Amino acid sequence: MDFKAMMPPHLRNVKPYVPGKPIEEVRREKNFAGEIHKLASNENPYPPTEAIQQAIIDEIKQLNRYPNSGSYYVCRDLAEKYNVKTDQVFVGNGSNEIIDLLVRAFINPGEEIVYPIPSFIIYPIEAQLAGVKAIEVPLRNYRLDLEAMRSNITRKTKIVFICNPNNPTGTYVSAKEVERFFVDLRKDVLIVFDEAYFEYVDADDYPDTLEMLKKRPNIIILRTFSKLFSLSGCRIGYSISHPDLVTCLHKVRQPFNVNRIAQAAARAALKYSDSLGDRLDENREQLNYLRDRLLNMGFVVPPSQTNFLLIIPTKPVGDIVEKLMDRGIIVRPMKPFGLGEESFRVTVGTPEENENFLKAIGDLL
Ligand code: PMP
Repeated sequence: MDFKAMMPPHLRNVKPYVPGKPIEEVRREKNFAGEIHKLASNENPYPPTEAIQQAIIDEIKQLNRYPNSGSYYVCRDLAEKYNVKTDQVFVGNGSNEIIDLLVRAFINPGEEIVYPIPSFIIYPIEAQLAGVKAIEVPLRNYRLDLEAMRSNITRKTKIVFICNPNNPTGTYVSAKEVERFFVDLRKDVLIVFDEAYFEYVDADDYPDTLEMLKKRPNIIILRTFSKLFSLSGCRIGYSISHPDLVTCLHKVRQPFNVNRIAQAAARAALKYSDSLGDRLDENREQLNYLRDRLLNMGFVVPPSQTNFLLIIPTKPVGDIVEKLMDRGIIVRPMKPFGLGEESFRVTVGTPEENENFLKAIGDLL
């Protein structure tokens, strides 16, 4: 049977998302017995805090019951945190699901999606799934080129993704640049601020998109519990937007899109978020340390406002990603993101992991 031929034509050649290699897979493939450092998926190197773990354990007793369908209590807690109305918040199975739902809810055949490249690889996949034209706007100096993105908006544009800070470069665009982007912009283009790494940002001129939303109802802000809150494995993220946009998202989601464990974990994460300051501080300090060392080794490393660094060799270094993997260190090759063959992205790990990574790189050079 030719199942592929049975698919709608626009779906036949979709390339599925390739995640960072899981630890177990590298252990099996490389027959590696030692400790493996996974620095490939911008995860938090530390497990969820004790309070979050306890909330998860407590929730297990109720797994015979379906979860709250619209994640109402998570929405309420988030609304309180951000001083918005509960009906402005939408919770998804990761913020990734919300990207998918936005495309499903709003894109008509013949419309266009604009996004930067290289950026989060889900955007091109979503454009393919919807069977619509993607306008890919190259970065300038490893930063989003908002001016070029703005000039690529046509009558057909429905959604623009602004990944800020941008994955995989770690760079950000400022409030001023974003304000300029909005000048004379049509009101019926959805501007999606993908702020998955927002908690890590410490730049003073990072845009306050929640404030912008008050004047501009065509904005939606995406954030996640996957990074600082250590809940990548739970799958829970959220958006903040105009309530009428939320109503549209509810129409296209599954009845129980976010499971009980994820909802309970997220609520505990919000309740006990004060204890995460130390992890944030350590990330910043380790990020700066890693970047300095890598710059000294001669790599190009754009300044990052996240928990990861993009690393671009300036001379041939051989198959460095594979060689690191041989040593039990998993980083993310950047070819699928449209960057050069030898570029890779490393996530900030624990101080020990970072030191081992630097030592391995040093040895390989
Ligand atoms: N946006 C960006 C820019 C990301 O890097 C990620 C995670 N890699 C996501 C969205 C999705 O995050 P999640 O689905 O885990 O909330």
